[in-house]
Amino acid sequence: MSDKTAPMSNGTLRNLPSVTSLIDSEVLREAAKQFGQPAVTSAARQAVDRLRTELQSDRRSVEMPSPSALASQIANAISVQEASTIRPVINATGILLHTGLGRAPMAKEAAEAAAQAASGYCNVELDLPSGQRWQRSKIVERLLCELTGAEAAHVVNNNAGATGLVLASLATGREVIVSHGELIEIGGGFRVPEVITAYGAILRPVGTTNRTRVQDYAAAIGEQTGAMLVVHPSNFRVEGFTESPNLGELAKLAQECQVPLVHDIGSGALIDFKQFGCSDEPIASESIKAGVDLVFFSGDKLLGGPQCGIIVGRRNLVERVAKHPLSRALRVDKITLAALQATLKLYRNPANALRAIPLLRFLSMPLEQLKARTESLADRLRSNLKGWSVRTVQDETFVGGGTLPQQGVDSWSLVMTPAEGGSTGGCVETLARRLRESEPAVVGRVQGERLILSLHGVFEEQDEPLARAVLLATELPIG
Ligand SMILES: *Cc1c(COP(=O)(O)O)cnc(C)c1O
Repeated sequence: MSDKTAPMSNGTLRNLPSVTSLIDSEVLREAAKQFGQPAVTSAARQAVDRLRTELQSDRRSVEMPSPSALASQIANAISVQEASTIRPVINATGILLHTGLGRAPMAKEAAEAAAQAASGYCNVELDLPSGQRWQRSKIVERLLCELTGAEAAHVVNNNAGATGLVLASLATGREVIVSHGELIEIGGGFRVPEVITAYGAILRPVGTTNRTRVQDYAAAIGEQTGAMLVVHPSNFRVEGFTESPNLGELAKLAQECQVPLVHDIGSGALIDFKQFGCSDEPIASESIKAGVDLVFFSGDKLLGGPQCGIIVGRRNLVERVAKHPLSRALRVDKITLAALQATLKLYRNPANALRAIPLLRFLSMPLEQLKARTESLADRLRSNLKGWSVRTVQDETFVGGGTLPQQGVDSWSLVMTPAEGGSTGGCVETLARRLRESEPAVVGRVQGERLILSLHGVFEEQDEPLARAVLLATELPIG
């Protein structure tokens, strides 16, 4: 901070240093070696422009820094910009699958497999016993079939890609029958009606928002039908007078009429999430068992693996999908496949999955243990913090990531509020910003004049760095 240094010269436009002279200074020539000339030139230009604007608009005199002080300020600004590159975050939001924070953290096993695949060669498209080239999804196909009961599997970049690829392969120029109640928006540019038309299919909505029956689908099937699509309304619920057809009945209809039935289950639960107090999450294997032809889901939501879109189902349809030209554009890389394979292997024994996959570990953590960790953090902060009051509250955590929206999971959180007599107004925001900028970054939730920190999605080994970050962020007076 250099705000109260003496003015080095009178603030007039004539004294404004040129961009050329600044970037020729010692500090900025050094900075260019590290960050590249374009970044330095652009930062210098911005700084000079800003000073010029201030000089032209401010009636009071503007303190003009010396050229060398200005060069240092510019070098600083470049370092600050660097801080907003991707780096580790402690997720204290209480939202376990936060798309802004990269959704599911992967198991150590998966991260190690990814690192190994990344730093060397691997047989991503080579069958080692035969020496033949093969389709790269084959690597994980057997595992996916074991875990879902499907005949075949294909993996693409994400579930939006999987949905698009299925629609493009089965229904371009043809109708896709969907219940009115499932014409939903998942967020971030995924709106079912738009997705259908974007891939050249024609939307054929049936039923009503709250009630749709098998007969509604049956009445809509005709020459033009490309597919029947069922979408799991991940992020909202219709309650009250509702009805939706049983998947098994729909599958029977689909088979009779020889129309593919495809199911976007969204979050990709491979196991039953009822054990964690979350009901209503469709399980991939149940959908296959009900007779659905193609089931697709994300890899980085409830499955707890890398970002990808997984398509499982009947062999002839999976092959059709895999051969579509779009499939190449949505191809996953070897790093993703290695991580996915390692994640899926954990599910062969669900006890391993519960132990190793962070999301499942967070969800199965005993409430008492979470309470104890939260209280111990609160005690530690209370004895060191000035100006803030700290308490613990029993509340709810949300899985998030477009899954299980209303379903809270019992949780404990730490609540920080400015202490009595302390300054108010913007304090909480400032504290939250300092935490986001700390190393490692900490992201909590601001609610009015309260900062809420949840340990539900915090790894135990992060409790200590989290406490240190809070102590450091509250050291300087705020206000
Ligand atoms: C999350 C979700 C998607 C999008 O999946 P991405 O992996 O983010 O592309 C599509 N459909 C449903 C039902 C979802 O929940």
